[in-house]
Amino acid sequence: MIAPGSVLGVLGSGQLGRMFTIAARRMGYRVHTFSPDSDTPTGQVADVEVTAPYDDLDALQAFARRVSVVTFEFENVPSAATSAIEPIVAVRPSPEALHISQQRAREKQFLADRGFPTVPFAVATTQAELASALARIGTPAIVKTAESGYDGKGQQVAGSAAEAGRIWSSLGGQVLVVEKRISLQAELSVIAARGLNRDVAQFPLFENRHRHHILDLTTAPAAVPATVAAQATEIGRGILDALDYVGVLCIEFFLSTDGELMVNELAPRPHNSGHLTFDAAVTSQFEQQVRAICGLPLGSTELLRPAAMANLLGDLWVDGEPDWAAACRQPDVKLHLYGKVTPKPGRKMGHLTAMGRTVAEAQDRVITARDALLRL
Ligand code: ADP
Ligand code: MG
Repeated sequence: MIAPGSVLGVLGSGQLGRMFTIAARRMGYRVHTFSPDSDTPTGQVADVEVTAPYDDLDALQAFARRVSVVTFEFENVPSAATSAIEPIVAVRPSPEALHISQQRAREKQFLADRGFPTVPFAVATTQAELASALARIGTPAIVKTAESGYDGKGQQVAGSAAEAGRIWSSLGGQVLVVEKRISLQAELSVIAARGLNRDVAQFPLFENRHRHHILDLTTAPAAVPATVAAQATEIGRGILDALDYVGVLCIEFFLSTDGELMVNELAPRPHNSGHLTFDAAVTSQFEQQVRAICGLPLGSTELLRPAAMANLLGDLWVDGEPDWAAACRQPDVKLHLYGKVTPKPGRKMGHLTAMGRTVAEAQDRVITARDALLRL
């Protein structure tokens, strides 16, 4: 067991690391963060902020020698970085889980090989393969870069196989994944944790609404039949075991209009759709990550009340600083800001959380509060 008072290392320095750090410090841990940037969302609240590129293996090893365990808060950490650290200190979740989930083609193949339901997909590495993949999967399809995509970046919709040339010239030169475009009834996510002792704890199912491929709103518990929730929970458990996972894992699902549940993607870390657990669950996803990687027993995932979370993107800054007081005028809405200095369209700057007697009430509260930010 890594006891409170020990030092935890985080690779990456965004808002996920920030909220992890807040949870860790509340429990008496110290946190060091490592990333190429300075004055970061995580660095602002960590004990130590190391600024060095991920390929500086000497700096990584020096960082590793000062901490009791290393985790990561985003999945684009190069495998060379985790390999350099592993001989010095435990990396949790494992570098293998990271390796699988940081490349879409590998991740989907891993899931499909083990019988987990995925969106029909094909992999393309040349323009000709892209054309035949589109013909095989059928259009409309969504073409995604296998690596480094997030918040819908590196994605294009293909209306027909004839668009292979256009899409290859905008995304190509790298491995691409072609997916059937699913007619969505809902998007759901499971946030699950597995401890060192292999115990598993899952939060209630979350329901996610996206805008321009970026998460906009999460509500919990998801308004889906109990059979769907049970199926998602079972798949979640199966994936944790298949990865022999230690830590928090998010599994994003599509529920098609035909009622079919499919895994969209995995995130080997806390996830935007779990942010509401910070205010609305007995244990937050961030505290759960601390517990799991430190070998502590997992905490209760019980939801206190129905809850909703609305993201605050940089777009809200169009006319200057949003009116924070107006959002706070709703006394039951919680404001979270990540300490990012430059707002940009699509950039996640913060979020709001509210609870209510019903999901609808919670949702109404966060949306009203978010609207109030711009009503100057
Ligand atoms: P990211 O890594 O950017 O989160 P995702 O694969 O999760 O990438 O895609 C972002 C969003 O785009 C999804 O949450 C969904 O709203 C939409 N989307 C992606 N793939 C599909 C698909 N095959 N069918 C329908 N919608 C999709
Ligand atoms: Mg996603």
